[in-house]
This record gives sequence, C-alpha cells and structure tokens, in this order.
Amino acid sequence: MGTIISTWRMSLEGVEKGKKEMLAGKSAGELLETVICEVENNPTFISVGYGGLPNEEMEVELDAAYMDGDTLDIGCAAAMKNIANPFLVAKRLSQEKVNCVLVGEGAEQFALKAGFEKKDMLTENAKQRYLEKIQEEVQPLKPYIGHDTIGCVALDHQGKIAAGTSTSGLFMKKKGRVGDSPLVGSGFYADSQIGGACATGLGEDLMKGCISYEIVRLMKEGMHPQAACEKAVNDLNASLIQRRKEAGDLSVIAVNKYGEYGAATNIEAFSFVAAQDEQEACVYRVMRDADGHCTHVKASQEWIDSHLVE
Ligand code: ASP
Repeated sequence: MGTIISTWRMSLEGVEKGKKEMLAGKSAGELLETVICEVENNPTFISVGYGGLPNEEMEVELDAAYMDGDTLDIGCAAAMKNIANPFLVAKRLSQEKVNCVLVGEGAEQFALKAGFEKKDMLTENAKQRYLEKIQEEVQPLKPYIGHDTIGCVALDHQGKIAAGTSTSGLFMKKKGRVGDSPLVGSGFYADSQIGGACATGLGEDLMKGCISYEIVRLMKEGMHPQAACEKAVNDLNASLIQRRKEAGDLSVIAVNKYGEYGAATNIEAFSFVAAQDEQEACVYRVMRDADGHCTHVKASQEWIDSHLVE
C-alpha cells in the first residue's frame, strides 16, 4: 500500500497531486518532487521556497534535503540563495557519491552548473514582512517565531521509502544559519527496510535528539510509527526541559514499510496531511493530551481555508 505523509496544512494541494501519481505507479522520489515543489513554487506559503522568510540581512537562504531509503543516498543543500527549487538540487546532489552535502555559494554554483533555474526568491510580500519586523524589533534582532518546514515521507507501490524537506528556516535567522531540515537524522531519515521520518520546529532543539533517526530506530525495534513519534518527541521534550528548562517546538511525522503512519508534537498547532491508496489526501490536526499522547483530528474545511500558511 502506498502512503504519503507531509507536515502542515500547506502540503494539501501537493499531496492531492502526489496521491494521483502514487496510484499511477510513480516512485517515492518523484512523489516528493511533486509535493515539495508545489509548496516551494507557491509564494502564499511564507516559510518554504519562493516567498520564503528572509534572514536578518533580508536574504532568502533556503535549506532542503532528500534521502533515498533503498540506497541510503542523501543530498542536502543548505543556506542556498537564488535557486528556484532547493529540493530538486538536494535530490540531484543525492546522486553524488561524495560532495552530496553543499552549503551557500558552493551549493549555488553546483545548482547553476547542473542547469537549475536561477531565481530571485525574495518576493515583495516577504520584503514587506521583513521591513515591518525591523521597525518593531528591538536590537539586537532575534529570530522571530515564524517558520515551518515541509517535510514529506512517501512509500511507493514498489516498497521504496523516501524522505525530503524544504524550508527558509527561522525568520530573521543569522546569515549562514543552518537548521535541522538539511541535516540527515535530524530533519529527515529514510530506510525502505524500516520506515521514514521528518521533523519541523526549532531546528536547534530537534538536532539535539537526532529526532528523525531516533524515530526510525524505534520503528526498527518494532514500534508503530505513532508510538515511535510520541516517544521521540516526549523523550526529547522532557530531556530538554530537565537540562535546559525549556524545549522548542518539536513536531514529527513518520511512515513504516507497511504504510502505517504517525505524527506527534509538543505544541498545540501542528497539522499534517496524509494520503493512502484508499484514503484521499486529508488534513489532520494533532491534539496532545497532558500525558503526551497525540491524536489526529480531521480538520474542517473552515479550518483548512483559514490556515492557509500553516
Ligand atoms: N526546523 C526548521 C528550522 O529550524 C524550521 C521549522 O521547521 O519550522 O530551520
């Protein structure tokens, strides 16, 4: 059975398209291209790709990654500017045996040489957001709580699992800042023999638990993706609070090789989209109780329409 799961409501239109392609037999990597590029290309979504949130120098630096769960190939482009689809660059990088993780200028040079489209990713809207923020912000600038990553895991009809991410990271981040999204094991992980996972939230905290790898490891021990997601989030959340008194936003999704999926969070506003052979693409809101158990509630059309940018 095929499954696509992707973070946040913003994935809906991409997953709808991806589901049709899944039924037509496309590979997990191709499904991720469809889902992630749909979000990257739409400037309505302010935290991914074109129209993404600028750093403190008003530059749109983007992070993206891809992992092939059959071969364990990974490709990552981080802090990359002026390229239309960072995810496609990351996917292309996964074909390289070495030099498959590139940052900044090196990633841009690679992308241009490989024929990827050069594009100014700063939109008028994003510029406006930046200028407004600068006005109200007291110096020194702090990364604003405005972010969100598209993280997507697909299991195709051939049994292949792939995971991918794309994000502009934290609004007002430092130039050169890299989040968890392009870091294997933190923002994403995929192994077709087990399952795959992706994360979204405060990269600096997600990295501390290598959370995506941890979820796949727990699934390898036999846990259902839902139990694995909850345990990984709750353990890291508790560990951060115990040692550092606070934990940033931690939200995760996962799929196993049987097509079962899970999602968990330590915040109130996490949503995800899932589609399977027999299940239309559907937006779910993740509800967390006091014990850290998470349930998935189908979002109403009204909620979907009013939460476009999440
Ligand atoms: N994890 C991303 C980062 O820290 C942001 C997000 O997913 O909200 O760059």
